[in-house]
Amino acid sequence: MPPRPIIVFDLDDTLYAERDFAISGFKACERWLEEKHGVGGVVAEMTRLLDDGHMRQLFVDVLKDRVPDATDAHLEAFIDVYRLHEPDIALYPDAAWALDHFGRDGPLGLITDGQHEVQSSKVRALRIADRFGHIVYTGALGGRAFSKPHPLSYERMEAAIGVPGRQFVYVGDNPAKDFVTPNERGWISVQVHRPMRIHSRAVAAPGGTAQHELHSLEELPDLLASLAV
Ligand SMILES: [Mg+2]
Repeated sequence: MPPRPIIVFDLDDTLYAERDFAISGFKACERWLEEKHGVGGVVAEMTRLLDDGHMRQLFVDVLKDRVPDATDAHLEAFIDVYRLHEPDIALYPDAAWALDHFGRDGPLGLITDGQHEVQSSKVRALRIADRFGHIVYTGALGGRAFSKPHPLSYERMEAAIGVPGRQFVYVGDNPAKDFVTPNERGWISVQVHRPMRIHSRAVAAPGGTAQHELHSLEELPDLLASLAV
């Protein structure tokens, strides 16, 4: 049997629920509002707006509603509280299992979009940095232009932990961006379905449909075994 491919994971809504990060951030926003402005009770409303798909606008709407004379500086501070809070998040059980299982026989990779400081705070909170042979924070590559599907992060991963003759697998959740470049570069692409994922309305990009779909990462060993020739 050939050696198993090198597995590279996405982070948000692949290894943990991004909605949990958001709610953890909303709680930090609520504490800040109570402390600075004496108003509270915003977590339920922010969560409802998130679930209705208003992620960007919800900070503006909630702050203006609770603090009518809020300035742009207040808004910036409010959003910073969200971005920079210490998140209270946990791995999906099947993700914890997969990191243990696959981490035993060779390096794993992580490619994650978003602001570097935010994404690294999630990796710290999940205590998973040492599970990976290489991590690419696309936000640290020089701006949003390098977010997936830009090829640079995948090229960096190949250079960092590639081994001649071993294929790569990318495991993600979002067909709008995760699988375009893996498909182009000859990687195996695997979508894991997370029912509560934030980008549940995302439409597959051209060429971005995953080659394989799973409902749990515990199905991944059987999938990879079935692909071995
Ligand atoms: Mg994701």
